[in-house]
Amino acid sequence: MKAARLHGFKDILHPETDKLRLVESKIKEVFERFGFSEIIIPILELSEVYSTGLGNTTDIIQKEMYTFETKGGEWVSMRPEGTAGVVRAFIEHSLYRKSPVTKLYYSGEMFRHEKPQEGRQRSFNQIGAELFGSRDPLSDSEIIAMLWLTITELDLLEHVQLELNSIGKPAERERYKKALLDFLSPKKDSLCENCRNRLSTNPLRILDCKTGTCNEIVSHIPFLVRDYLSEQSSNHMDALTRFLGEKSIPYRLNPRIVRGLDYYTDTVFEITTNELGSQNAVAAGGRYDLLVERMGGPQTPAVGFAIGLERVLLLLEKMRTRRNSPGKKQLVSIIHIGEVARVQAAKMAYDLRKKGMKVETEYENKSLKSQMRKANRTGATHSIIVGEDELRKKIFSLRNMKTGKEKSFPLEKLAGLRGHGDLRKLI
Ligand code: ATP
Ligand code: MG
Repeated sequence: MKAARLHGFKDILHPETDKLRLVESKIKEVFERFGFSEIIIPILELSEVYSTGLGNTTDIIQKEMYTFETKGGEWVSMRPEGTAGVVRAFIEHSLYRKSPVTKLYYSGEMFRHEKPQEGRQRSFNQIGAELFGSRDPLSDSEIIAMLWLTITELDLLEHVQLELNSIGKPAERERYKKALLDFLSPKKDSLCENCRNRLSTNPLRILDCKTGTCNEIVSHIPFLVRDYLSEQSSNHMDALTRFLGEKSIPYRLNPRIVRGLDYYTDTVFEITTNELGSQNAVAAGGRYDLLVERMGGPQTPAVGFAIGLERVLLLLEKMRTRRNSPGKKQLVSIIHIGEVARVQAAKMAYDLRKKGMKVETEYENKSLKSQMRKANRTGATHSIIVGEDELRKKIFSLRNMKTGKEKSFPLEKLAGLRGHGDLRKLI
């Protein structure tokens, strides 16, 4: 026999084991501050726990589960995610009787038969949290705040964004799906093979497809899911965004966040990063008010999320390498036109350097062309351009030196920058 592990499976050796455990315990410590306690659930469940929970049309159920028949003739599956198992346990132990709100977290290995690549394995670790018993948007905002604080304490804030959407209730979603089908069906032949199948199984997922042509088609859809939301769902979303605002948690509304699982209602969100290629989701979650009942329990609203531990570790590793090589720190160049702007540029540079950014600007008045040439020569990723006209209007122009794209922003944007990563998000 050749000693070889299964394709897409990974051994984690020392010192990676220490890193993983350290990150895991940091995350658990944050969860405990919010009153969450740990539940340990089995890795193996009856297959129907997942098929009922996740829905038969999802990618996970259709093609990603490790399912087999036991010697006793039962069909069982290795857990592909944590929520369905936690809900099964919540019902089986009647946890809803013990207190009106139940807050649980879990951590452990998940299994999905998908194509292995960087950031995507067939066995991986997730740590997730579930809050049962509250329908109020304040509970959505609390669970998102807990995730955001986790990200903050892992020192990843600068490299991620929170993307938020509402997918409404099933009836609203059905109407939206119908509109999607009417729009996409005539373009069927241009969709990727996967999405052609999704037209009949799970059209919402087409919004989430990473293939270039699908992306292009989807970007021309003339309506949004929010056009189909009921008043109740819209109000839920409005309240949630207000609560996030009060907690100063920055979010981006993204109508293309749909999530792959059937059980979500209303709120869905992802923590995404630009640093991991197309495996850009570090964590994801949402509200699932119908799942407990669907799995045989009493009507119980719930909201939760899962963090992909390997992706967090990958991101931390990338950031560590970047931080440890100061020579490689990304450069920003401030280009000034006119005397007032020249002095102002020096102040801007100082303010940005205080935030840890590497910034260059000319001492002398030089032509725009020569400053731009220098910015290119020294490898600046972005140029901030200020002239007297801009300063009077309290704006600046930001140019991405690689793509050549340029856009104006109010000056306050500079004060709000947390680091170089934020410039990349602007342009
Ligand atoms: P993706 O769009 O990347 O496939 P997903 O929607 O399938 O993600 P979820 O089921 O919501 O992801 O899982 C939550 C998190 O678990 C993801 O954001 C990701 O960080 C991690 N994750 C999911 N699948 C994998 C995998 N195959 N390998 C490593 N991490 C994963
Ligand atoms: Mg997936």
